[in-house]
Amino acid sequence: MELILPQPGTREKVSSPQTAVIAGGGLAGVAAAVVLAERGVSVVLAEREPFLGGRAGAWTDRLATGEPFEMERGFHAFFRQYYNLQALLRRIDGELGFLEPLEDYPILGPGGQVESFSGLPNKPPWNVIALTRRTPTLGLRDLLRVNGLAALSMLRYERGWTYGRYDDMTAGEYLDSLRFPPDARRMLFDVFAHSFFNPENAMSAGELLMMFHFYFSGNPDGLIFDVSKRPFSTSIWGPLGNYLSGLGVDVRTGCTVSRVAKGADRSWKVELGGESVDADHVVLALTVPGLQAVVGDSLDLDDAGFRRSVEGLALTNPFVVWRLWVDRPTKPGRQPFVGTTGVGCLDNISLYDLFEDESRDWAARTGGSVVELHAYAVDPGMDEPAIRADLLSALHTFYPEYVGAGVIEERFLIRRDCPAFAPGSHADRPGVTTPHEGIALAGDFVRLPIPSALMERAVASGFLAANHLLAPQGVRPEPIRSIPRRGLFGRRVQETEASRMR
Ligand SMILES: Cc1cc2nc3c(=O)[nH]c(=O)nc-3n(C[C@H](O)[C@H](O)[C@H](O)COP(=O)(O)OP(=O)(O)OC[C@H]3O[C@@H](n4cnc5c(N)ncnc54)[C@H](O)[C@@H]3O)c2cc1C
Repeated sequence: MELILPQPGTREKVSSPQTAVIAGGGLAGVAAAVVLAERGVSVVLAEREPFLGGRAGAWTDRLATGEPFEMERGFHAFFRQYYNLQALLRRIDGELGFLEPLEDYPILGPGGQVESFSGLPNKPPWNVIALTRRTPTLGLRDLLRVNGLAALSMLRYERGWTYGRYDDMTAGEYLDSLRFPPDARRMLFDVFAHSFFNPENAMSAGELLMMFHFYFSGNPDGLIFDVSKRPFSTSIWGPLGNYLSGLGVDVRTGCTVSRVAKGADRSWKVELGGESVDADHVVLALTVPGLQAVVGDSLDLDDAGFRRSVEGLALTNPFVVWRLWVDRPTKPGRQPFVGTTGVGCLDNISLYDLFEDESRDWAARTGGSVVELHAYAVDPGMDEPAIRADLLSALHTFYPEYVGAGVIEERFLIRRDCPAFAPGSHADRPGVTTPHEGIALAGDFVRLPIPSALMERAVASGFLAANHLLAPQGVRPEPIRSIPRRGLFGRRVQETEASRMR
């Protein structure tokens, strides 16, 4: 792990009373709120939804029997190289005891193929060599046909080089250029590419290569991940909400931020929930449409380049999360989580009663099981009945024991709020800093100086946003943690610490 201290600073707290408004209560906003509040800033955290957590959020629902249960935006994998996320979560659980390792994370293919990621060495290039050697979908003859130069780019990650060379290409074009046989491509890459919610023909190959470096070739902690043993509302959001309140953060849920305007003395006025709040610091940690709406209505955020880069952001296709309470038990030997490929739009199957206590209790009482199906980057032309039929048929293909099973209860979420990483979008993507003093951005779509993605990118961006706002005051920054920022064969570049953090 690389530990990066982004700026000098030893003071534990700000020396004068200061206020901050954080717009958005997802992981990015909460991370920024924690760092600012710990350093003595008086924080208002405004979240539009009635619960914290955004896309990793959770809320209480009820089954038809009246029994309460905790529902979420869907299964989440906590990878071991999510160092900044871990640093945030250690504030509420020092040992991260709510997480449990999964033994494996197999990928199931349409013809009964299985690809396992357990037991691989963690060091590059041995991880790549071992996976290539043991995968049943790649023979020696296939390997001789592979485009070695293109494949080498997976071990050559360096931000400037990788995005410079590959950002204009689509992930699909890059994967085609590798010349892997179709089965190997499907098993090794298609699930991986889909995990970022973007269809591969509309996603930057530079972004895909960064993710490949972050999750696999440059990741010293391996591909195996942990899961939450308890629903997120009890393991994460309840305790984080209490932690924020303990720091004096004014957490306002069900509160929409609409506009930011210049106030007196270099401070800002933030309109939230029909009220105007003065703030020395503002972090916009919103969804893409949320950010675009706020910036669009905030005429004092008048830097043309900044406005253009925010307008240039986009959302990717919708995704679906379908949780089913079924009247049959899980077949013995099944894994808690599998990725799937090649059968309809199904991307993964989670068996909640195998890892999460609430579902385990329900299954033990009823003799049933709790199954969650995900589909990412869904074709926007598919309607709900078509998606349901497609997902159910794919479940039956992979887990035939569920054919004819009765569905006792279900929750079907179709949402579209994940960011697009379109080819050619990297250079103009907004970063954490903005041309407007006192305003910073955070979120999993923000351009970052370190390789990271999804939850980890959200938290790292929140930490960086708080550090940036505190930088002029000599306050101790939150350390930023990263896997190596260069791949095994990545070029060495001379950078100052400051330029490395942009
Ligand atoms: C189904 C699914 C599965 C996933 N699985 C994984 C996984 O396995 N591993 C992983 O690392 N990541 C996973 N992710 C991604 C992860 O959830 C996100 O990367 C992360 O939660 C993003 O956090 P964020 O704070 O950047 O954005 P968000 O969580 O989107 O937070 C933005 C917040 O801003 C709020 N908001 C918007 N407009 C306004 C406004 N005007 N005023 C006030 N508030 C506003 C929104 O309500 C939202 O709460 C998954 C996501 C989904 C949807």
